[in-house]
Amino acid sequence: MQENNKDNKGGNNKKIFISILVFALISTFLMNLLTASYAIRSMREVEYSKFLEMIESKAVKKVEILSDKLVIYADPQKIENNENISKISNSDEITLYTGNVGDPELYETLKENNIIFYRPIEYNSPFFDFIMSWIIPVLFIYLIFMLFMHFAGKKMGGGIMGVGKSNAKVYMQKETGVSFKDVAGQEEAKESLQEIIDFLHNPEKYREIGAKQPKGALLVGPPGTGKTLLAKAVAGEANVTFLSISGSDFVEMFVGVGASRVRDLFKQASSNSPCIIFIDEIDAIGKKRDSSLNGNDEREQTLNQLLSEMDGFDSSKAIVILAATNRPEVLDKALLRPGRFDRRIIVEKPDLKGREDILKVHAKNVKLNDDVNFNTIALATSGATGADLANMVNEAALMAVRMKRTEVCQADLMEAVEIIIAGKEKKDRILSDKEKKIVSYHEVGHALATALQKNTQPVQKITIVPRTMGSLGYTMQMPEEEHYLMTKDEMLEQITVLLAGRSAEEIIFSTATTGAANDIQRATEMARNMVLQYGMSEHFDMMGLSDMENRYLDGKAVLNCGELTAAKIDEEVLDIIKRCHKKAESILLENKEALEKISEFLYKEENITGEQFMKILDEVKNK
Ligand code: ADP
Ligand code: MG
Ligand code: ZN
Repeated sequence: MQENNKDNKGGNNKKIFISILVFALISTFLMNLLTASYAIRSMREVEYSKFLEMIESKAVKKVEILSDKLVIYADPQKIENNENISKISNSDEITLYTGNVGDPELYETLKENNIIFYRPIEYNSPFFDFIMSWIIPVLFIYLIFMLFMHFAGKKMGGGIMGVGKSNAKVYMQKETGVSFKDVAGQEEAKESLQEIIDFLHNPEKYREIGAKQPKGALLVGPPGTGKTLLAKAVAGEANVTFLSISGSDFVEMFVGVGASRVRDLFKQASSNSPCIIFIDEIDAIGKKRDSSLNGNDEREQTLNQLLSEMDGFDSSKAIVILAATNRPEVLDKALLRPGRFDRRIIVEKPDLKGREDILKVHAKNVKLNDDVNFNTIALATSGATGADLANMVNEAALMAVRMKRTEVCQADLMEAVEIIIAGKEKKDRILSDKEKKIVSYHEVGHALATALQKNTQPVQKITIVPRTMGSLGYTMQMPEEEHYLMTKDEMLEQITVLLAGRSAEEIIFSTATTGAANDIQRATEMARNMVLQYGMSEHFDMMGLSDMENRYLDGKAVLNCGELTAAKIDEEVLDIIKRCHKKAESILLENKEALEKISEFLYKEENITGEQFMKILDEVKNK
């Protein structure tokens, strides 16, 4: 629902005005046409020569000389060959007209024949003339201009007339229809927001004691964790109006628009209080003001307006401002100081329990088979956000429909997880025999390294069906429980697993393929993090060597050291990689028989489950 009172009123006025104008124009036009055509239609045109003939035969009584025509009053009886004329009139006088050909002898002829002639004073008064020749054309041009603006304005959204009307973009909802029940997990965030809800319910309680409510809270977290959802839920819980606008809506090509949008937004809020103003993606306007060359005046103006509006409004008015961002570090300090967005509510990626709850929330309206176990799914989706999980449930439901089932079962959900992680199966990509063999060995290499190092997770499934997201095959692992800490040994083991794919290729085919690119990248990143962030290298001890950037957007470590150190870091990383590569090699060499047996199985079947895998492995081992 897009409410837009002020603008609508303005629009209506404009419409009424335009319709009056059109009506007036059309009616004048019609009036003119009518009078003119009436006068002409009741007369009959004759040729000029006929007119002269009529003078000869003394039929003409009177002539009215107009600039373009002569109006002739004649006696029909005296007109020679008057068949067609007498048809229209049998009275003793008839009115005819002929074009004024500018005959220089006309006056002489008329005088000679004693015909009354005169030039009538024009019907048109000067005033009427003025209107016709000046006002009407101007109005007409104006009308066309207005129409043009109207249509152009529609295209530009708001149009030139609507510049600065924030309400054109403000999304106002009396009821969001979302409550805390719809937001699973995020208990800490909910708790922090509970106070705000309480304040919106009864601001008097706070006012009496003299407490000031925090004006704003900033929701911070990675994309898809439910920040927007939480803001809506707060409005729903407090049962107040929800005004939302996205940071990028403020930034427009017209200078000063952003600032006036902010002003209008707060005006609208104060007339709708109690309410929640929600500014989504606030980093679009809230970036640090700096003196760099690409400084953006328009954005700074908008930000300044926002700052002063936040200071200006009365905190007893029961208006709370929520904002969301996933880049809190770029926000201007002034926005974050007490009295503005002084509360920061962290919305993290959900943990195991959170993921299970989110799955349940989204599966509420989905028909489920009895075999569905959300705990297993939650275990397999470590690192997934709420949005990912919502998507998974939907994918699973779609899958069930495709399979012509009436219920979603566990297999659908697992397949959905795979789709989200690795993309859809790409049945049309056909691997050559040789490629298929290499992929099988590569994947089994990963899986064997996993299974044979005691601290790593057991394998859930291996597949060599290509997926749309680029992998030719993959190994799906299933942790038994969620880890929050990782030991150095575990990290080394994981790197070893990542490198084992390529190692298998080397051992069996004595060659290297491009298939290991992603493994190499991930292994290197991990090794690098061990050195840079976790103090797990021999040489650097516990020295921190990097800063985090964009923590909530797949944060990247930025080096924070001298050049010589950087070179040494690379050495350390290389050392870790080399050691792990060696280890992977030796594990696979020791278990070459298992590697071959399992790979052949996978090559034939294209899929292998964890159980089948362990069965073959045990057989080989116990021989
Ligand atoms: P963002 O943090 O990027 O603003 P959204 O709030 O837009 O994320 O979340 C996107 C979608 O993900 C929501 O509409 C909802 O369906 C789902 N979602 C995210 N987090 C949760 C959660 N904690 N509980 C239930 N659904 C969630
Ligand atoms: Mg959002
Ligand atoms: Zn691999």
